[in-house]
Amino acid sequence: MAKGYSGVSLPFPTLAKEALQDRQLRANLARATTTIRNKRAKVVAEVSDWEALRQAGHDIKMESLANLSAHLEKFESEFATAGGVVHWARNSQEACEIVAGIALANQITQVVKVKSLTTDEINLNEYLQARGIEAKETDLAELIVQLADEHPSHILVPAIHKNRDQIRDLFLEKISEAPKDLSNSPRELAMTARAHLRNRFLSARMAVSGANFAIAESGTLCVVESEGNGRMCLTLPEILVTVVGIEKILPKWNDLEVFLQLLPRSSTGERMNPYTSFWTGAGDGPSQRHVILLDNGRIQTLADENGREALACIRCSACMNVCPVYERTGGHSYNSVYPGPIGAIITPQLLGPGQAKTLPFASTLCGACYDVCPVKINIPKILVHLRAKENAANAPLSEKLAMQAAAFALRPRGLKILAVVIEKSAPILTSKIFTKISKYLPVAKKWSAFRDIPKVRLNKKSKT
Ligand code: SF4
Repeated sequence: MAKGYSGVSLPFPTLAKEALQDRQLRANLARATTTIRNKRAKVVAEVSDWEALRQAGHDIKMESLANLSAHLEKFESEFATAGGVVHWARNSQEACEIVAGIALANQITQVVKVKSLTTDEINLNEYLQARGIEAKETDLAELIVQLADEHPSHILVPAIHKNRDQIRDLFLEKISEAPKDLSNSPRELAMTARAHLRNRFLSARMAVSGANFAIAESGTLCVVESEGNGRMCLTLPEILVTVVGIEKILPKWNDLEVFLQLLPRSSTGERMNPYTSFWTGAGDGPSQRHVILLDNGRIQTLADENGREALACIRCSACMNVCPVYERTGGHSYNSVYPGPIGAIITPQLLGPGQAKTLPFASTLCGACYDVCPVKINIPKILVHLRAKENAANAPLSEKLAMQAAAFALRPRGLKILAVVIEKSAPILTSKIFTKISKYLPVAKKWSAFRDIPKVRLNKKSKT
């Protein structure tokens, strides 16, 4: 089982190698990502100014990040004026303590949860459990993952690694309300989960959510979802606690006009989300509304001018649905709440130097992620930047020297010299003896572990 966000342990190559042996996983992923990809492509093609929308989304996000402290202060002041309580958390420990503190101060031992990557990032469920508070996921896919005692493998479709038969078997084992003759039909599975959750919704005194957007000018939080479980959690309990990464801020209410077009099309392949909920401070519904504004590595990410663009992500998941690496290895190989291309650039930055260092290399740099990203995050560029940082800090001397030689060789003058060297040494490089020896040479052994050295055909005329 993959560990939670802060428990990154085994490197990507090890986990990916293991995942690649699982044919059922690859089949499940290929089927699901192909379906979502096609849905997305269809609804995006309907929007004639899609490229202009993407650019607008990018510009708004980058402006928001450039003036983040001012927007956060404005949000805080507006949310508090409207009767809400604002908390600040530097890291996951502080955020978890605040949530648990609110629950315990109100003698609450059970909370219901709206699907939230940010609370997964801080391992909130595990923390609450250790403090005697049960956190029940209410999104269908999150519930499946929770019942299976796993972690999500996709940011939008957390149980994408499971097929319907596997889910039916899980429900039969873990849900007492499941009928004995439960089939694998989506409707029967959803009705079983519904019966299981209904009493929880009605009896829960506290809910925990994340937020898709936080509007600075009005102090408003926004959650978009598809199942209506979020609306139940946001309105029925007495207390609502929302954990929000500080990068979720948008300056103005009108900015939503752009993002509420970009997000549903890029994520679920819908023209709009079935449920879009807004709340500002306290009011109808929960009498206590708290928001926790979370840093947890975001400020250090903001400090890197080449990497900070990753904070513009609106967590749509389009990049992972087109990624050839993700499609084959699945989300658990990334050992992070954020898998796929966005995970490869955000996880190492949030965790900081020396952490998750293999993730920026988990990409072919094909650029498909950049093409579909609704906020135009140049993921390949950031991957290359993070690889360079990692190499500068930790690559063995032999690799550094090889890279310097490559940098020289790929200059115009260097290319000419390289051509001559290759031509002269081709007979040696392609000989059987060298192929065997290369498996023991410092840099060449990594390359030749999975590949044969290609045959070089010498052009005799070029010698004249
Ligand atoms: S990086 Fe772009 S495509 Fe990937 S999840 Fe974020 S917004 Fe979506």
